[in-house]
Amino acid sequence: MAKGYQAPRGTQDILPPVSGQWHHLEDTFRQVCERYGYQEARTPVFEEAALFARGIGDATDIVSKEMYVFEDRGGRSLSLRPEGTAGIARAFVEHKLAGEKSAWKVFYLISIFRYERPQAGRYRQAHQVGVECFGAGGPDVDAEIIALNMAWYRDLGMKGHELRLNSLGCPACRPGHRQALTSALADVAEELCPTCQGRLDTNPLRVFDCKSPSCGELVANAPAPLDYLCDGCRSHFDALRVLLDGMELPYEIDPRLVRGLDYYTRTAWEVKYAELGAQDALCGGGRYDGLVEQLGGPKTPGIGFAAGIERALVALEKGGITMPETGAGGVMVIGLDEASRQRSVLLAEEIRAHGLRAETDYFERGLKAQMKQADRLGARWAVMLGEEEMASGEATVRDLMSGDQESVPLEGVAGWLGERVVTPAP
Ligand code: AMP
Repeated sequence: MAKGYQAPRGTQDILPPVSGQWHHLEDTFRQVCERYGYQEARTPVFEEAALFARGIGDATDIVSKEMYVFEDRGGRSLSLRPEGTAGIARAFVEHKLAGEKSAWKVFYLISIFRYERPQAGRYRQAHQVGVECFGAGGPDVDAEIIALNMAWYRDLGMKGHELRLNSLGCPACRPGHRQALTSALADVAEELCPTCQGRLDTNPLRVFDCKSPSCGELVANAPAPLDYLCDGCRSHFDALRVLLDGMELPYEIDPRLVRGLDYYTRTAWEVKYAELGAQDALCGGGRYDGLVEQLGGPKTPGIGFAAGIERALVALEKGGITMPETGAGGVMVIGLDEASRQRSVLLAEEIRAHGLRAETDYFERGLKAQMKQADRLGARWAVMLGEEEMASGEATVRDLMSGDQESVPLEGVAGWLGERVVTPAP
């Protein structure tokens, strides 16, 4: 026998009926984005590897250890995208979309690729939804985008997730914080893990990101960016909080929530779902007023977030939220002998022309087996055609939800069904 193939480590197949749950998450996200005035942007799955080194930072784990980098046949160094923001920012700069008093508001639904150690909630090909807004720097945009983020979870019926909020300051106030942090950490440098010792010189802020519990304890009382905000950053943060309070969006201030890159400015947030265990982040977002310039564009404020789809699905499942699956609803058209089977194929086509899903039996099975199939398909209606129906010219139509049955003239069945709302059988 030929060798059996398996999906690559860290990837998964999304098959029916579960793909219906994915559609539900994605459709809900599109609807929410629509309400907030965001439009879809699609950028390539791969980009020049250097874009990510520049846009994410070559000292980050993502770039230094996790990228899928390859050389194409023309000798170019490319990488599968490990996240969405860099490609969108590249497109913004390349297409010269910056303008005076104009905001560019886009959303995306993408696969991301990271060579991480696979574990629960962590894949090598993962999926994200996200939004970015370039061109507006006020706290009103921060509030709007956080509200959009939370509206998605609300519309999905998510419960028990927590919004964490922080401010990282800006190039004006960050040096003061960095100095205070560096000197505080210098006292405990030898007790920090080797990775964090390395971070002391390159990017001390990332010490807050360390997963090691001993580093966590050591930095618990270290100076946080929030205590060093300049007047501008402080009033931006205060104004954001007033707006979030006005929107009645609950959040917790987390002074240790950081983003380790210089172009991240001011607002940073995360949504956590405790029951997810080690990988408990549902989503991460922040303002990055330095990114567009970093990529060679004009000085332009920007803000965005990315949220994992896989983790959202697990969180919804843990919360007992039922989601629609592929295939529910629609009509099973049942033919019982040669003539009626032929008619059932044509009738199914008529029903589809009325916008409904219709299916027929391919295997010349009897009534019982076809009714079972209707059940498996989650059909809402069964239309039965047998010798009697063909002779009388009236189909027997059964509402599989109520069990009610009536005769409807064959010529008018498709229209009759089209006028009724077709919802899945329970
Ligand atoms: P990040 O860009 O790392 O802030 O990721 C944003 C969100 O995407 C995270 O909060 C996760 O929900 C999700 N995510 C990131 N990486 C992975 C991965 N390897 N597997 C599954 N989900 C991921």
